[in-house]
Amino acid sequence: MPPTKVTAVNAPHLATTFSDQVAAGIRRPSFSERRTRIVATIGPASDSPEVLAALGEAGIDVARVAMAHGSIDDCIARIRRVRAALPSVAIMADLPGPKVRSTSFPEGGVMLEQGALVVVTDGASSPESSARQIGVCLEEGVDHLRVGDHLIVGDGGVTMEVSSIEPRLEATVTCGGKVQGRPGITIPEHPMVADTPTVEDLARIQALRAEGVEAIAASFVRSEEDVYKIRAAIDDPEILLIAKIETREAVEHIDEIVRSADGVMVARGDLGVRLPLEDVPSLQKQIIRAGVRFGRPVITATQMLESMISNNVPTRAEVTDVANAVLDGTSAVMLSAETAVGHDPALVVETMARILKRAELDFDYIRWGSNLGVQEISDDRASTLRITASITAAGWRAALEEDAAAIIACSNSGMTVRSISRFRPSMPIVAVTKTEFRARQLHMSWGVAEVIVHPSEDSYVQTYAAIDHLLSEGLVVPGDVVVVLAGSRDTAVPMTDTVRLMRVQQHR
Ligand code: PGA
Ligand code: MN
Repeated sequence: MPPTKVTAVNAPHLATTFSDQVAAGIRRPSFSERRTRIVATIGPASDSPEVLAALGEAGIDVARVAMAHGSIDDCIARIRRVRAALPSVAIMADLPGPKVRSTSFPEGGVMLEQGALVVVTDGASSPESSARQIGVCLEEGVDHLRVGDHLIVGDGGVTMEVSSIEPRLEATVTCGGKVQGRPGITIPEHPMVADTPTVEDLARIQALRAEGVEAIAASFVRSEEDVYKIRAAIDDPEILLIAKIETREAVEHIDEIVRSADGVMVARGDLGVRLPLEDVPSLQKQIIRAGVRFGRPVITATQMLESMISNNVPTRAEVTDVANAVLDGTSAVMLSAETAVGHDPALVVETMARILKRAELDFDYIRWGSNLGVQEISDDRASTLRITASITAAGWRAALEEDAAAIIACSNSGMTVRSISRFRPSMPIVAVTKTEFRARQLHMSWGVAEVIVHPSEDSYVQTYAAIDHLLSEGLVVPGDVVVVLAGSRDTAVPMTDTVRLMRVQQHR
């Protein structure tokens, strides 16, 4: 009799070899924990210790603090509150970049009626906007606007078209609606000229230095040079740099950007106003695929459960959208206003978690990994990245062949974990790392079931610590096979260069 496994790791024993499974087309998640990560934006609705605790209980993996809202000091205070309330959740600070905004509309907002004429002025010289006049804060000024240019307000509900330049710059409202606060203004005909990072972003990066955030997201990156500049400003190799893909230029340079960043975000809000809205579903698939090929976590963001800002139940379309992001292979999904200003942030997270778990049952784990290569990671055969990519590919395949109970990745930088995670293995990935910081940071990666913090440099010691932990948690039982990805002691530079299959023993 084979030993009976005692936990969720166990699944009915089906066809056991990789080739059998491929031939039979079996889709087989062997693990009942949620694999897709949840990023929740923290705002006024979720600032209190009670709501933060409820978000933690509901299962958020990453808290996002959007630095576009409030002063730098407000954002730092928010980061500290999150850290205090949720010590094992990763924090991602989000830099707004050169987002063009209007000057502020009066309290309570105004209606812009379809067909109305609105005077367009330079934001720098007109502090207030109204129903008759809008100040646009363009770095290069508004003088270069041409008749026919569009001004899209916010996420696209309200649109104006420049109708005259002389004697004054005027736009006609082509799609009316309510505007309030200081909405973003997108002029799709004009590429953004302001640099990334902005002077304000540099000040934010400076203020973040002492906060120990696990990741920094950067808005409106348009090239790999932008990524390098932001990385130089951050000047801390420990922090993951997440490039938000939300411009046409970023889509055109997606591979270079993904290669130079540590993760990417499908920023559907701005993407959907700068590129045709109907392109968004296809861009989402393309960006996710690019991220996964390079072993980068990908966050799919914006309006995922938008109606839950005020409702208790999402729309069918939203549920389907979240599920499809899972099937597209996203690592994480993000909540924005739903948790920052919504009426019940924890309910949104619980709802999202349920949708994710159900969608994961339909994910084609085997086909996903079978289609991944190693050459994208680096075309330099001597590169340690490429060696890690090959080793994790071998580990994934061995885990399927041998129906392994878990994949253990000894990974001080987290790179090996991200590299195996791109295969979306059906069995749990267990990471062993040296610090709490790295453990939290790995909450951005798909499917990492457990992160064990063990201070040893020696991957042999780390491996046994992981197995002991898995045994004591009941995640493996004696007789199970586990796949271990680790580095040898005798390499000149540290790298993951071995894949080992071990049969778990009770006493050693
Ligand atoms: P934002 O980014 O919410 O900071 O604008 C996400 C998006 O544009 O979708
Ligand atoms: Mn955006």
